[in-house]
Amino acid sequence: MPLAPSSDPLSASPPARPVAASGEVQALRQRLAAACQIAVLTGAGMSAESGVPTFRDDSSGYWSQFNPQEMASEAGFRAHPQRVWNWYAHRRAVIARVEPNAGHLALARWSRTHEGRMSVITQNVDGLHQRAGSAGVLALHGELMRNRWLDRPRSCCDLQRVAPGEPPSCPVCGNLLRPAVVWFGEALPASVWQAAEQAAQGAEVLLVVGTSGAVYPAAGLAQIARRSGAHVVVINTQATELDAVASQCLTGSAARLLPALFD
Ligand code: NAD
Repeated sequence: MPLAPSSDPLSASPPARPVAASGEVQALRQRLAAACQIAVLTGAGMSAESGVPTFRDDSSGYWSQFNPQEMASEAGFRAHPQRVWNWYAHRRAVIARVEPNAGHLALARWSRTHEGRMSVITQNVDGLHQRAGSAGVLALHGELMRNRWLDRPRSCCDLQRVAPGEPPSCPVCGNLLRPAVVWFGEALPASVWQAAEQAAQGAEVLLVVGTSGAVYPAAGLAQIARRSGAHVVVINTQATELDAVASQCLTGSAARLLPALFD
C-alpha cells in the first residue's frame, strides 16, 4: 500500500549547481538512445517554463503565499471549503491558459517514435504531459481538472447533476465536490503507484526532472530504480534532496535539457 505524501513544505531551497556541459549531455543522449526502458519522474519544475508556479521555489512558489496544510489537506478543506475550492479554481484557471513546453513535447515525441520504451511518471496534476501527447502517463497525485466527492458517494450523488456553489454539492444530500488530487495524508492511487514502481524497477535509465525530491513516496522511486541497477539522472536548475541518490546530476531547465537529450 503506498504511503501518504509527506514532506517539509517550508524547507529552504538548496544552493545552485554549475550548468551541464555539452559533453555530459551528448553522453547521456547516447545512453538514452541505447536504453530499452527509460522512466521519467517529473515534478512541478517540469511545468515551470509553461508558467505554472512550483510549490517550493522562493518567491514565486505557491507555498510562499499559502499554508500547505490548509490548502492541501482534507482537514483544511472541511474547515474552509470555499477558500480551498477557490484556490483550486485559481490553479485551474492558470492551467487552462498555459501550454506544454518544449520539454513536455520532446518527451511525447520520443515516446511516440520509440513505442513502449518510455514511462512517464508525474507528480504534477496539471495534465501537461497528457496534453503534449504522452500516452499512459502515471499521474501519482491525481488530476487537477477532475473532481470527486468529498464523502463516500450515495446513490443520489451524480457528478453530472450538481448544485452550483463554491464548492458545488449534491442537490439531494449536500455531499461536496473536491478536486481529484492527492492531498497530504492521503494514499496514492494503488494501481498507479504499482505501475510506477514497476517502471522504476524495470528502467535502465531514470530521469528525475524538476522535483525537489521532498515529497514521498514519489521521491522514493529514485532509490527503487537505483537499487534495481538503473542509471539515475537528476535534471534540475538547483541542487535537490535526490542528488545523493543520483548516478549523475545535470543542471539546467527541463525545457532546455529534454529537447537536447531527446530531439
Ligand atoms: P517542488 O515545488 O517541491 O519543487 C520544484 C523543483 O523544480 C525544485 O527542485 C526546483 O529547483 C525545480 N525547478 C524549478 N524550475 C525548473 C525548471 N525550469 N527546470 C527544472 N527544474 C526546475 O515540486 P515537486 O517536487 O513536484 O513537489 C511538490 C508537489 O507539488 C507535487 O506533489 C506536485 O503534485 C505538486 N505541484 C504540482 C504542480 C503542477 O501540477 N504543475 C505545481 C506545483 C506543485
